[in-house]
Amino acid sequence: MRLGQYSTTDGAQDWVGAKTDDRTVVNLVEAGAAAGVEIPRESTDLLAEWEWRRKTELAVEYAEQTGVGVRDVDDVDRLAPITDPEKVVCVGLNYRDHAEEGDNPIPDEPVLFSKFPTTVTGPGSTITWDPDLTEKVDYEAELVVVIGRETRRVDREDAFDHVAGYLVGNDVSARDLQHGDGQWVRGKSLDTFAPIGPELVTTDEVDDPHDLDIWAEVNGERLQESSTSSLIFGVDDLVSFCSQAFTLKPGDLIFTGTPPGVGVYREPPVLLDDGDSVTIGIDGIGELTNDCRCG
Ligand code: ZN
Repeated sequence: MRLGQYSTTDGAQDWVGAKTDDRTVVNLVEAGAAAGVEIPRESTDLLAEWEWRRKTELAVEYAEQTGVGVRDVDDVDRLAPITDPEKVVCVGLNYRDHAEEGDNPIPDEPVLFSKFPTTVTGPGSTITWDPDLTEKVDYEAELVVVIGRETRRVDREDAFDHVAGYLVGNDVSARDLQHGDGQWVRGKSLDTFAPIGPELVTTDEVDDPHDLDIWAEVNGERLQESSTSSLIFGVDDLVSFCSQAFTLKPGDLIFTGTPPGVGVYREPPVLLDDGDSVTIGIDGIGELTNDCRCG
C-alpha cells in the first residue's frame, strides 16, 4: 500500500488516504466509516492502531466495491505522509563513499543525530530559510524508515516486524550552522528542512530495501546517484541499534543517511539558492520535489 495524507479545497479536515493507482486516492476515514472500520485522520494515529494494515485493507476493499471515499488525484492536495512524528532520527556517514568523500573514518557503529519534528514538510511544499541565518543550504537524498510498532530492545532478526514502510526524504542541511556549532542539531533543524514523501510505501511492496537506486537532482542536474546496497548499516541494523537506547514509536522516522555527491563537498560546491528545485528519487518508492525559497 501507498499511504499519504491529503486535503481537499472544500475546507474539510485533512485525512489519511491510500493511493491505489496513478489516478486514485481512497479517503480511508470516509471509506472506513462506511465499512464500519474506524480509521483516525492522522497517519501516526493510524500506525498506532492494532492491525492497522488489516483496517486499511478493509477500507480500500470497501471503497473499490462501492466508490465511497474514492477521489481523483487532481482533486486533492498531497501533504506530508507523516506529520508530527515524535522523533526524527538521522544517521550520519552511512554510505561508505560519502564518509570517504568528507574524509571521515568508516564508523564502527551508527552515528546518530536528530532533526526536530517541526522540520517535516511534504511533497511539493517549499524549503525556506533566512539568508541572515544561513548561506550554505545543501540537499541529502535519503531512504527514510517509518516505524509501525512501539519498539524497545528489538533484535536485528525481528527489526523488520517493527517497520511500517519507507519514504523518500531530503535531509536538508545548513552546512555553516552544522559545521560551525560544534554539533549538528540547529543546522539540521530549520523549519521545512525535512521534506518527505510522496507516499509511505509499506514493507510488503518493497522486496529489498537494501537494493534500491537513489538519486538527487537540482534543477534537473543529477548530483547524487547511488544504491541503498552501499549502506554501511541497513534498516534492520538501525532499528535494532536505536531501540537498545530509546523507544521508537509508530510514526517515528529514521533518515538512513546520504550517498556521495552532496553540494558542500563538490568542486566547486553546489549550494541551494532561491528558486532552485530539488528532486530526490528512490526506485520503487517514488520521487519527491521541493522548490527553494530564500528570504
Ligand atoms: Zn543526512
